Amino acid sequence: MSRHTSIPLVDLGSQYALIKHEIDQAIAHTIANSEFIGGPALARFEQKFAEFCHARAAVGVGSGTDALELILEALGIGPGDEVIIPSMTFAATGEAVVRVGATPVIVDVSERTLNIDPQAATLAVSKSTKAILAVHLYGQPADLDALSDLAKAAGVELVEDAAQAHGASWNGQRVGAIGRAAGFSFYPGKNLGAYGDAGAVVTNDQELADRVRLVANHGRTAKYSHEVVGRNSRLDGLQAAILEVKLAYMDRWNMRRREIAERYASRLKGSVEFVAQDARADSVYHLFVAFVPDRDRVRDDLAERGISTGVHYPIPLHRQPAFAEYVAKDQDKKWAADTAAERILSLPMFPELSNDDIDHIAEELLDVLQARSRRSE
Ligand SMILES: *Cc1c(COP(=O)(O)O)cnc(C)c1O
Repeated sequence: MSRHTSIPLVDLGSQYALIKHEIDQAIAHTIANSEFIGGPALARFEQKFAEFCHARAAVGVGSGTDALELILEALGIGPGDEVIIPSMTFAATGEAVVRVGATPVIVDVSERTLNIDPQAATLAVSKSTKAILAVHLYGQPADLDALSDLAKAAGVELVEDAAQAHGASWNGQRVGAIGRAAGFSFYPGKNLGAYGDAGAVVTNDQELADRVRLVANHGRTAKYSHEVVGRNSRLDGLQAAILEVKLAYMDRWNMRRREIAERYASRLKGSVEFVAQDARADSVYHLFVAFVPDRDRVRDDLAERGISTGVHYPIPLHRQPAFAEYVAKDQDKKWAADTAAERILSLPMFPELSNDDIDHIAEELLDVLQARSRRSE
């Protein structure tokens, strides 16, 4: 019997086992002191997370989706405005735009990195464009040189959807404060994950950070004094305490993710294609994504061999019913995102994977692909 009985796509349990003592203590402390909303752990975490991003300010909010929506709202983006977003992303990127009343303009991605194609973004700029919302997909920063130039030339904001990219860098600079502001998600499965929903807005612009905090906390300037109509989207004390513990491990965990990606790459090179890395990017590998033929069957074969995989994402945004009204009618042409959606396969990726696990996964994938190509000969 192989000792590889089953390998999950992500394993939050094994991470908890490693830091259980610290986490349990942080949770108990928060409850004992009734620091549920606001409190010292939140203030400490916000400061440490801003430092981690080499940015001036971080504001804890309810989720990554809220973070994006709050940034757009704080920038005054709303009805009549357009925001350019990539097609290969999680729905939240588009939701944030629609929720503030603006119009998402969905553009194609680069076929090699699957990040937003700067040329497609350039062609999509109109008089109504107010921002480019660039996603750092799978932990790899989008082309921030081209996008910064484009935003400057067009006089629009560059906002980063950094939900998958805590600690990633571009030309040696950490994401988060390269654009005007960035939205981070602490959804449990993200590189930095809470034990529930949580997110943060990061920016070098203190005024923007203050506006986000105002709106996210009922628009209040004092307990019962409300300056604007706000909402409730706060990072709670328990999640902040948990995130503070985990943040101390982030650099180590991201380093391990890079090692895992390198090992996958060296085992698969020449036989399997995978998402390309831009030389200017330093990814934190939220996911390691390969391109395989006959993807759904390969997935089933791997599952039979005890290896769980994922697909991020099977339906690009411009094919989603929810966003149909924002897509031009003549979309019969195949986008790079469409081609990718048929072939992408996310392999198990979490810092606790052993080298032995990685080699085993790579071997099984190569074996499954060989068996399939023999059968189709
Ligand atoms: C996870 C994610 C979000 C949303 O974050 P939540 O915390 O789940 O709301 C937004 N954009 C991308 C690219 C994501 O992966």
